[in-house]
Amino acid sequence: MSSSLANIYARLPVALSHGKGVWVWDTEGRKLLDGLAGIGVSCLGHAHPKLVGAITEQAAKLIHTSNLYEVPEQTALGERIAAIAGMQEVLFANSGAEANEAAIKAARYYGHKQGNEFPHIIVMESSWHGRTLGTLAATGSEKARKGFGPLPEGFIQVPYNDLAAVAAAGDKEPRVTAVLLEALQGEGGIRPADVAYLQGLRKLCDERGWLLMLDEVQAGIGRTGKWMAYQWAGIVPDVVTLAKGLGGGVPIGAAAFAGRATGVFGPGNHGTTFGGGPLVSAAALATLQALEEEGLLENAATVGQYLQDSLAQALAGVQGVAEIRGRGLMIGIELDRPCGVLVRRALDAGLLINVTRDKVVRLLPPLILSREEADYLVGQLVPLIKQFLAEQA
Ligand SMILES: *Cc1c(COP(=O)(O)O)cnc(C)c1O
Repeated sequence: MSSSLANIYARLPVALSHGKGVWVWDTEGRKLLDGLAGIGVSCLGHAHPKLVGAITEQAAKLIHTSNLYEVPEQTALGERIAAIAGMQEVLFANSGAEANEAAIKAARYYGHKQGNEFPHIIVMESSWHGRTLGTLAATGSEKARKGFGPLPEGFIQVPYNDLAAVAAAGDKEPRVTAVLLEALQGEGGIRPADVAYLQGLRKLCDERGWLLMLDEVQAGIGRTGKWMAYQWAGIVPDVVTLAKGLGGGVPIGAAAFAGRATGVFGPGNHGTTFGGGPLVSAAALATLQALEEEGLLENAATVGQYLQDSLAQALAGVQGVAEIRGRGLMIGIELDRPCGVLVRRALDAGLLINVTRDKVVRLLPPLILSREEADYLVGQLVPLIKQFLAEQA
């Protein structure tokens, strides 16, 4: 299709017109199961009455004011996020990348306050933190970084899930001030951090006075069956970043601080025109409330496990399936070969999915997914995977 849009997406040949629950309809009237939720964003599914109600009510009252004034909806949301994440204070942004920019700036400011004028942040291979210059510098994907140098300095990349590599990087570079990672890598191929690794990082950061910063932009807000993916390891980080699921579909990001990171910023150090405005804050409050009232963390855990088990059973012994992994409703099926064509075939079969890292089929359905809908998903997806692998064997 020719258009005036910059050519930054190889889009699928489908336009969606409306949705209800886990289902969406395209402009031709075809009904599809949303197994991706807009990359983990639409956690309540589509047209959830509580979210729609909160947005329409707030839109009629007040959409935007400014962070020059008190914003009661933002204050309430900050309290709620602090409570569910175990944090002390929260600031708002408009995306995951921006939330991570705030975390990176906080780590640097923390370093400078301690007399470290060139603070370094340890980051992970195959990580994803966003597409701004700062977050690209922190991101492990060579493909995303290529051609955009010079990128900001001060990042040291080490292998994921390797505690000794983090300690060694700190031994070599005394100006390290923070460690930034995902507790469950999303774009990197649905790769969970080991519990012992996360606990080891918490201990290491405490010993060395570093900030432990968890990017929960994709795995947070109930997707893995707990509010935050790091809660599976029973740890509390110093900095947490959020975005995707937080607003149930409206653009919002947040960075939360605790421990040594509390009170790093003062007035004038950071800010945003739109971040935490009345409309998105009301939407995020309604999203968090609905997730809680409707038991959707529990649902993500149980239906997620059921979905993963069903996939494992249906694909057992199939040549070419390397691994099925993930937690809650964040599931990856790694094949032994690039499988991007499956996205289009799934679309033709009435299913929205994604492939990341070339070989990993990624499922991030809305957290309201039922067992029957999970069965439908498995029933549509598994034959496509089997056929694809048989063709190329
Ligand atoms: C999507 C994602 C980001 C970037 O979020 P944007 O809203 O696209 O800027 C950052 N970190 C993780 C882990 C993500 O999955």
